[in-house]
Amino acid sequence: MKDVELDHYVWADKIAEQLSKKEVKEHVIHGMWTPSGFFHIGNARAELLNPAFITKSLKNRGIKAQQQFIADDFDDFDKIPKGLDIKKEDFEPYLGKPLREVPSPVEGYDSWAAYFLKDIKDNLEKFGLNPKVLSSYDSYKNGLYDDVIKIFLNKAEDVRKIWNDVTGAKKQKGWLPVMVVCENCGRSATTKAISWDKKRIEYKCTQEREYAKPCGHKGSIVPEKGAAKLNWRLHWAATWFIHGVTYESGGKDHFAAGGSVESGQKFIKEILGREGPMQTPTEFLLVDNTKLSGSSGNTISLTDWAKFAEPELLRYMMISYKQNTVINFDLHSNKFFLLADRYDKAEQAFFQKEEKNKREVQLTEIYEFSQVKEIKEKIPMQLNYSNAAMIVQTFPNKPLGELIDILNTNNWIQRKTLGVSDKEKLVKRLELAKYWLGEHAPDEVKFVVQENVPENLKLSEKEKEALKLVASLLKEKDFEQNELFNEFYTICEKVGIKNTDFFKAAYNVLLDKDRGPKLAPFMLTLGKEKVVDLFEKI
Ligand SMILES: [Zn+2]
Repeated sequence: MKDVELDHYVWADKIAEQLSKKEVKEHVIHGMWTPSGFFHIGNARAELLNPAFITKSLKNRGIKAQQQFIADDFDDFDKIPKGLDIKKEDFEPYLGKPLREVPSPVEGYDSWAAYFLKDIKDNLEKFGLNPKVLSSYDSYKNGLYDDVIKIFLNKAEDVRKIWNDVTGAKKQKGWLPVMVVCENCGRSATTKAISWDKKRIEYKCTQEREYAKPCGHKGSIVPEKGAAKLNWRLHWAATWFIHGVTYESGGKDHFAAGGSVESGQKFIKEILGREGPMQTPTEFLLVDNTKLSGSSGNTISLTDWAKFAEPELLRYMMISYKQNTVINFDLHSNKFFLLADRYDKAEQAFFQKEEKNKREVQLTEIYEFSQVKEIKEKIPMQLNYSNAAMIVQTFPNKPLGELIDILNTNNWIQRKTLGVSDKEKLVKRLELAKYWLGEHAPDEVKFVVQENVPENLKLSEKEKEALKLVASLLKEKDFEQNELFNEFYTICEKVGIKNTDFFKAAYNVLLDKDRGPKLAPFMLTLGKEKVVDLFEKI
């Protein structure tokens, strides 16, 4: 922990600072998610990464803290998400049942919930996360919620008043705040609790739902070991009570007036007699100006992220944006390159030896939160993401290891001697850039080095003359980047054409495009034989 008292730059430090004033043996920092569809990086922000940052900040202060992640797999299966290769009718009979009792949409998993939790479990370590992952289904079945359910049932009238008060609903007298799991059809959304005699709940399965039909069964159960569950608003408060939660965020929609934060805080305080956790909202993460939705199938999961960028970049994005700021991200504009560049800047600030200014101290802290592994003594080798995208397109068929040598010979990277971890890092970045180009990159960034001068290309005589002059210069001697760059201007002057026309003509011949990577270093990287060959053919 850097000693910057009073002036905590990073939002997670500010929250930890406030939490540190509470007297508790151990802080429990929660995140929660229903595994009904795809987990995306917006979910990861509120439920996994931000809690991890706060937990880390508390630990940095020497305060005991643990992160927990609750998988709400006792929730109903209420919607069949898009983007799955399944027959809808195979799954429709399961609508209304707990997610843990619905078969997996893909072979090899125990349940629907288990399949969608895979993206999280597979990626925790990769993203430097270590929460205790708990299943609501198991917790109910093991009796963890039994006592709280009974408290809520015994105080059903008080619960009802709070509920109506906060939400504006009109629950009638005698309403019971539980959902019995029907012994006949296994659904809970379709049941209605009729009475509670302090031992058993009488219920009937007669509630019509948009997504599920009741079976008509009538019966009674003891509300223990998962025979009944709490409605979401009460379930949230019960979970805080059971685990002693001291902090939980959540999407900002929960924080609206009459929302589940307001009701949850009242239930835990007024019915369970305990102070609720500190809560601050997490704003949405937009991709292409659209809120991500786990049921649309069109999302960026953690697994997706790790295919085009390092996990550190996602952590960097989440810690550098304040929690209450909308992140508007996309993979097709230079926003993505800028993110990678900003991370590199933060890394440079962290390793900077001279005294740091305010911004550099801030970047240093952000960098620390972004790390997945222990920080090395020496600054890791950096390769600008756009340069990585350039080199893999220049030599699409060469092995990535060979590209590192080409980058090194042509001064694209800072160090001449590369250690094993440097090489690994660089090869990884090339791999990520290659994937990004194939899946997400905009056309402006993509190019193909031409084998022959493009057929329909029309160049002016002056343009041809200029390019031929470049070819003969390249044949004469070897150039440094800057030297060659200066030659371009001399040639333009000599021939009498505009610089912009000259560059456009060169890119037209080399790439069949009007623009491209910085011309002088690109030509030298591509190899002067290739450039000479094309320029002489015009
Ligand atoms: Zn039923």
